[in-house]
Amino acid sequence: MSEVRHNWTKEEILEIYNRPMMDLLYDAATIHRKQHDPNVVQVSTLLSIKTGGCSEDCGYCPQAARYHTGVEGNDLMTVNQVKAQALRAKEGGSSRVCMGAAWRNVKDGPEFDQVLEMVRGINKLDMEVCCTLGMVTENQAQRLAEAGLYAYNHNLDSSEEYYKEVISTRGYQDRLDTIDNVRKTKVTVCSGGIIGMGENVEDRAGMLVALSTLNPQPESTPINALVAVEGTPLEEEKPVSIWEMVRMVATTRIVLPETQVRLSAGRTQMSREGQAMCFFAGANSIFAGDKLLTTPNPDVNEDMKMFELLGMNPQKPFTKKVQPQTVEAGDSKFESLGEKPKWTRPEHKIDRNEAAKAKGKLVK
Ligand code: SF4
Repeated sequence: MSEVRHNWTKEEILEIYNRPMMDLLYDAATIHRKQHDPNVVQVSTLLSIKTGGCSEDCGYCPQAARYHTGVEGNDLMTVNQVKAQALRAKEGGSSRVCMGAAWRNVKDGPEFDQVLEMVRGINKLDMEVCCTLGMVTENQAQRLAEAGLYAYNHNLDSSEEYYKEVISTRGYQDRLDTIDNVRKTKVTVCSGGIIGMGENVEDRAGMLVALSTLNPQPESTPINALVAVEGTPLEEEKPVSIWEMVRMVATTRIVLPETQVRLSAGRTQMSREGQAMCFFAGANSIFAGDKLLTTPNPDVNEDMKMFELLGMNPQKPFTKKVQPQTVEAGDSKFESLGEKPKWTRPEHKIDRNEAAKAKGKLVK
């Protein structure tokens, strides 16, 4: 049962999700122990290298410029600022730094060159480097790979059907195409989603069908619980219960047996006992640091205390895959192509997104 399958159906996944809790926990924990050390957790630090002012309309995101959320925008950080933060993260027990930029897609030019330098700088600190920069072309992914990128994050967010209820400025196929572009390189894929956006369990299962049928499956999958931020279209959504989170983590573990399943946004709403249950159900990664881009996250010391209590240890970098080599900018085989890719803009109307945008105008 712990072999990797790429032909999961929504019905099969729903059957797993809805199993009696004790059976679900037992099955997920059994698979988890076959594939992973249950007492080891991979710790990532998420760094917002360029915050706010984003042109997209993701209904969950306080960084979308069109919503009135009070998030202050910041220009791209400098390479030295990023290296200093990475060093601090390493000292705090993180093996990976994930750099997030509030961009629709990567654009060739000085800012991307600066990000490539950040990747080089962090890889040289012997830490795994991940980026989440929006859509990327194959050439851009190759340049990131050459710089020493370990992972690229691009979440599917939800099922294809529900995605249309949350975002209108890009299509699901753009997400899949970006993942495909990353797959053409040696960079590993990190892709997951968010629960608690008003979707139903069929949508959760649909997202897991999309992730599990990727071949290979993502090396890491973040499972986020929505943090409903005032001013966003999803501000009224109620927090998901710990039981839903445990079910989602356990089901993810069963259909993505080899993947590192990451407890991501929403951990501040969970007790230690709740998080421990998620680890038992197969989560083996967390985001550390007191902020996740713009939303709150538990303090690093709190996490270390929790690990001590549970007898868990942080995973060493490059445990799952060898460290990539960094090619210096002057030796690159891949030139900047100055591409202008035609990522889609469906622009269908999502009432709650329109309402949140209009509300912003009223407050101003
Ligand atoms: S999730 Fe990313 S792409 Fe969407 S609005 Fe936020 S920053 Fe922009």
